[in-house]
Amino acid sequence: MNKVRVVVVGAGVIGLSTAVCIAEALPMCSVTLVADKFSPDTTSDVAAGIIFPIEFPDIPLERQKRWIKDSFDHLLAIAHSEHAPDAGVMLTSGCQIFKEIPANQKPLWSDFVMGFRFMTEAELKRFQGYKFGQAFTTIKCECSSYLPWMEKRLRKAGGIVECRKINNLEELNYDIIINCSGLGSKMLVGDDEIYPVRGQVLKVEAPWLKNFIRCGDGWTYIFPGIHSTTVGGTRQQNDWRLEADQDDAKKILERCSELEPSLKRAKVVSQQTGLRPSRRNPRVERETVLLQGRRVPVIHNYGHGGWGVTFSWGTSVDVLGLVRQCVSEIQLKAKL
Ligand code: FAD
Repeated sequence: MNKVRVVVVGAGVIGLSTAVCIAEALPMCSVTLVADKFSPDTTSDVAAGIIFPIEFPDIPLERQKRWIKDSFDHLLAIAHSEHAPDAGVMLTSGCQIFKEIPANQKPLWSDFVMGFRFMTEAELKRFQGYKFGQAFTTIKCECSSYLPWMEKRLRKAGGIVECRKINNLEELNYDIIINCSGLGSKMLVGDDEIYPVRGQVLKVEAPWLKNFIRCGDGWTYIFPGIHSTTVGGTRQQNDWRLEADQDDAKKILERCSELEPSLKRAKVVSQQTGLRPSRRNPRVERETVLLQGRRVPVIHNYGHGGWGVTFSWGTSVDVLGLVRQCVSEIQLKAKL
């Protein structure tokens, strides 16, 4: 029997994870990945890449826990392997601090990260005005390395990669279409629920910093990485500006230096801005679309907001399950 032809639209962390997951698990499928932008020009390249989940309001908790666990296990295996430096995946320890004690002091993710504990008063003393803190070890996945590494992994598994813009799903003549176009889904599938949340960060040289610090409101963070330290940030809803804003940059450096005064000495290497593909809940589901008279399964995997790296492998495993269903249906139909 001929191979089942699968196309994945999108070469950010979601598209590449989905394509690799399918190409490695389903030899009866041929996988083509199509995108108009690749690393280093995707939103995923801007992410600090901290594996740090939130709870989505309408997705069953069991499903969200599976997403977190699958992602965490997948990335931890890479972090512990010889591939870690090429893939840009490392363990990282640090803290999240709060000015007011949060309602949920021990959130869902506390069971997945390592060594979760509340900070002591002595540890908090360093951060003036902060009353509560959580210390833990998690994973940092640097997409500027991870995406090219995943693209190589895809090609090794037989995947084909094409650079082009898709204006309409009708342009795709495949058995199964998988939409991982992030914010592009607004145009590609007419989703009005998706919107940008602008994030600006700076990469600085501060090799003496070893531990991350994140403020509970998500606006201020310092994440030391393999090649540089990411300091941020902004969370501006419905702001489509991709250029760096110098006022934002100044405020980011001020806020971060308040937490970590030694940052005043750090050299700024670059500035980056990305638009988080935000939605009330990510869309990970299957539908059937009539394309040129053919009923084609379209599987969506987009809208991960500020948590796409975190949920990337987990939601891809869900998509793999949906592709398996589609493949059995296609094979059954072929036999009839
Ligand atoms: P993208 O990376 O935007 O990729 C979309 C892909 O689809 C691109 O290849 C694009 O070219 C393609 N595409 C779109 N439309 C079309 C079309 N019509 N035709 C062809 N191709 C198309 N997440 C975390 O988990 N941890 C973090 O620490 C973190 N920090 C962040 C910090 C900042 C400042 C920002 C901005 C984001 C951060 N995120 C973080 C969020 C994370 O970056 C996103 O959730 C993630 O990148 C979304 O990935 P994606 O693959 O869906 O989208």
